[in-house]
Amino acid sequence: MGRIESEYYHHPAILYDRLGDEKKTVFCRLCSHYCEIKDGNIGICLLRKNIGGELYTMTWGRTEGLAIDPIEKKPFYHFKPETRVLSYGTPGCNFRCMNCQNWQLSQAVKYYSDKNLTTKVFLPEHIAEYAAINKIDGISYTYSEPTIFFEYARDTIIECRKNKKTESLFHVFVSNGFFTKETVDIIDKENLLNAINIDLKFMDDQKYKKITGGKLNPVLDSIKRIYDLRDNIHLEIINLVIPDENDKEEDIAKLCEFIVSVSPDIPLHFSRFYPHYKMGNKPQTEYNTLIQAKKIAKSMGIKYVYIGNTSIPGGEDTHCPNCNELLIARSRYGINENNLYINNNKSYCPKCSTEIGIIL
Ligand code: SF4
Repeated sequence: MGRIESEYYHHPAILYDRLGDEKKTVFCRLCSHYCEIKDGNIGICLLRKNIGGELYTMTWGRTEGLAIDPIEKKPFYHFKPETRVLSYGTPGCNFRCMNCQNWQLSQAVKYYSDKNLTTKVFLPEHIAEYAAINKIDGISYTYSEPTIFFEYARDTIIECRKNKKTESLFHVFVSNGFFTKETVDIIDKENLLNAINIDLKFMDDQKYKKITGGKLNPVLDSIKRIYDLRDNIHLEIINLVIPDENDKEEDIAKLCEFIVSVSPDIPLHFSRFYPHYKMGNKPQTEYNTLIQAKKIAKSMGIKYVYIGNTSIPGGEDTHCPNCNELLIARSRYGINENNLYINNNKSYCPKCSTEIGIIL
């Protein structure tokens, strides 16, 4: 551990092709920007550099925000309730969200340039060691976009699996979902992740472009692909409800229509917006808007709908989708009451025996 050290500064990247007769241009297939990068240049994320026809990641091993949190804070409400996760991110992102609450981290390279970053080097073995010492249950790759530090996350997972004390840890991504099919194929083939929370921001491609710099369809594709892997990877979706951007009833209905078309079983979290970064002048989301969003989602058939990033009584509770029995009462990432009936490591409603599908 220490300040940036040159040997870690440029780390070989994965998932790219060499193009052209001299093979000096590279084509990165890690995220859906699919950047074509000439020798000496960097990709849209500002974090991947072509040096002589080889692609390198510039934030491998550079951890920010290392902290231990309840899994509910990520948020995951249907995966390993009440477990403790070690969370970390790295500087940079492939999006430029105007509302980003972590913009000092996600946009760090843009504002401070990669040479001036003071992020400490924390190797995968250090993270595994730290996880073992603190007896945590899993690792969450979060804060900034984990796709962008995919090699670092992957090496951390591999390192944890080598060590008896950390081999059974679970690993989760909190992601914008802008990764590619090729990235999903690696996650699947190497069995890297146990759960993903995907942030579905808008159902409007123009809004995606204007506010995030991304596109809608790759995110929708990621949700469908991850759902197809549901036997191995648990999926939850979060939607930040931003005043005047995606808070109209028709916006919420469109979002819910898509989720129902994939599966009404996917837990959906509506999250309250607070003014940040380039949206510093917008008001917070009204409570009524969030309550109405939840009502719409339930009426359209989504079984598990939550309101987070605030304290609305009952907003974080799980009810049985069949008989409405209170199953789990939560407040601010903590569980106050857990009435699930557990049998053979599966969760059921204690009143009507409906299987709830919370992963224990
Ligand atoms: S990760 Fe995405 S943004 Fe970065 S170079 Fe690759 S394709 Fe471009």
